[in-house]
Amino acid sequence: MILIFLGPPGAGKGTQAALIAEKFGIPQLSTGDMLRGAVAAGTEIGKKAKAVMDAGNLVSDDIVAGIVSERVDEEDCKPGFLLDGFPRTLVQAEMLDKILTDKARKLDVVLELKVDEEELVKRLNNRIMETKAAGKEVRADDNEETFRHRLAVYHEQTAPLIPYYDEKGLLREVNGMASIEDVTAQIHAIFADLEKA
Ligand code: AMP
Repeated sequence: MILIFLGPPGAGKGTQAALIAEKFGIPQLSTGDMLRGAVAAGTEIGKKAKAVMDAGNLVSDDIVAGIVSERVDEEDCKPGFLLDGFPRTLVQAEMLDKILTDKARKLDVVLELKVDEEELVKRLNNRIMETKAAGKEVRADDNEETFRHRLAVYHEQTAPLIPYYDEKGLLREVNGMASIEDVTAQIHAIFADLEKA
């Protein structure tokens, strides 16, 4: 199974993606995590990406598509994989189509986590307070101003993927404001539905 999690920053994509990946025994490919790994390791890609990421902007389509293309060739992606945070632009979606076609693979479903964005800002501020209270470092892109900028980037560049996948008949909506357990249950119900079809 190959699936995409779509939704604004802070919608819970990472949390749900990890739960679903574990349940189905497929890897969670988070381009955000991969890029943060590259920054931490000080690679060439990491050096290019750091300032862009800290400002809440998008890293170039070629860089992220290259990372994903290499990653899906690894053995653990054979049974399928879950994309969390990719694609994020129409160009990336088209690149993904080509990557999958070239590798004779097929996208099964795109899950759109729908959320109330003002509520997300509240959740973010709580998360920052908790992280600080726990004495941990807050991510450089975790502050309200950058977050609102990332939401704007989402609307401008990523939201057009919703009609793109809808037209392909691949889009399924999930109410992302429900509890973590309930969101997982909605996703399982979608999978059950897909199996029947
Ligand atoms: P995330 O952890 O998914 O919120 O990603 C953190 C940051 O990494 C984003 O704000 C972008 O700067 C960068 N990033 C992650 N995925 C992508 C992508 N598919 N395309 C461009 N930039 C990305």
